[in-house]
Amino acid sequence: MSQFPDTARASEYGAGSRDYFKFEKGDNRLRVLALAQDPVATHFISKGERAVCIGVSRGCKYHGENAPKGDDGKPKKPSVKYPAYVVDRKTNDIRLVYLPYSVVTALGDLKKDADWSFEELPMPYDVTVKYDPDASGTDMYKVVPSPKSAPITSEIRASLETMKSIDEVADAQRDKAAAETEHAGEIDLGDESEPYHGQLG
Ligand SMILES: [Zn+2]
Repeated sequence: MSQFPDTARASEYGAGSRDYFKFEKGDNRLRVLALAQDPVATHFISKGERAVCIGVSRGCKYHGENAPKGDDGKPKKPSVKYPAYVVDRKTNDIRLVYLPYSVVTALGDLKKDADWSFEELPMPYDVTVKYDPDASGTDMYKVVPSPKSAPITSEIRASLETMKSIDEVADAQRDKAAAETEHAGEIDLGDESEPYHGQLG
């Protein structure tokens, strides 16, 4: 059991309302077991080059004037995703996935809905994330709750307990990026010096 994250805290990582994640086109049926309290954000520095955001308060340099710019000269929003453990209903296996910010806010809306409210995670029902890569903005992902959800098996619950907590997974990514940032600041790496190339997933 754990708490649903406070998505207002995502602003710390530069979250906007349009963050995309490549789900399979069509229906993706999931049961959300655990969600990280804070998202993992990725700055797009240039083509093929990304950096994991360590948060504004920890000194992430890719904000404000230093935010990476797109071809149009405008600052590019980071991709903000919540690490999550889910049951993939196709296989009934636990998967680590990075849920787009828009999907997590939709789950938050369900949490507040009179008919679908829930207190803690795992969620008490499945959701189908309908992914349409041809749609734009918030229409790209639609979250549909399922009233006919199979229970979470005792095997799933048992294996979830043996796994590293989802917050540890998220913290480890930020700590790794922070350590490499500090390292780069202290030591002159000369021509070997390269920006951090953190990859999610
Ligand atoms: Zn950042």
